[in-house]
Amino acid sequence: MKLRVLGCSGGSVKDRFLSCFLLNDHIALDAGGLTGPLTLEEQLRVGHVIVSHTHLDHNCSLPFLVDNVFGRVTEPIVVYGTSAVVQSLKQHMFNDELWPDFTKLPSVEAPTMRFQEIEVEKPFTIGDLKFTPIEVEHLIPTVGFLVEDSSDSSILYTSDTGPTDRVWQVASSQANLKAVITEVSFSNDVGTLAHASGHMTPDILATELKKLTQEARVLITHTKPGHVSRIEAELKQLNLAGVEFIEQNKTYTF
Ligand SMILES: [Zn+2]
Ligand SMILES: [Zn+2]
Repeated sequence: MKLRVLGCSGGSVKDRFLSCFLLNDHIALDAGGLTGPLTLEEQLRVGHVIVSHTHLDHNCSLPFLVDNVFGRVTEPIVVYGTSAVVQSLKQHMFNDELWPDFTKLPSVEAPTMRFQEIEVEKPFTIGDLKFTPIEVEHLIPTVGFLVEDSSDSSILYTSDTGPTDRVWQVASSQANLKAVITEVSFSNDVGTLAHASGHMTPDILATELKKLTQEARVLITHTKPGHVSRIEAELKQLNLAGVEFIEQNKTYTF
């Protein structure tokens, strides 16, 4: 599978985009930075958007994507989320106040977008990719995803999480696990912020990775802009096997 990193920043600053990973050119995993890095033609190719949780840094560009393709798509963009996510996006985002309800525009019969509810641990497929949502530990209901392709290669995206167990258990059961994309948001010296907000520090990551028994690349995302240099230094000191920072704009093949 092909994964293009559109955004991997834990905060919005110049030239850095928020969490968004484009799979095989047409499936977005989270939608923090889905529009800024893509041309209109590239945006028109995005048919599926999977939302891990409703924090804005994971969905704030979704309204603009939908608006950009309004009147230009024949099939609605499908937005996937657990019932908590779908309810929240309907109620607080596409509510005809904050933004139009594009599930009824231009018409109920031929809308610009539609919601697809997904369930924890129930796999669903898009094209030749299979996604399994797995619950993680964050401030609000959040799922990570195991993504498997038809040639049996798999990756795991944890989304935002603090210490958790199930995703590591699932990842460890994958014989062809190529990569884990996981977060380190804060540096060790502000560990209290990480604990309070359901995120990780380099020290927490080191503890969590002991739960991963399968060898894989570990790609770090979601670093908070004010903490990047300290996180880099702390991770270097820990010297954890296979750990590297994921790179914005880079396309990975797994
Ligand atoms: Zn979050
Ligand atoms: Zn986040």
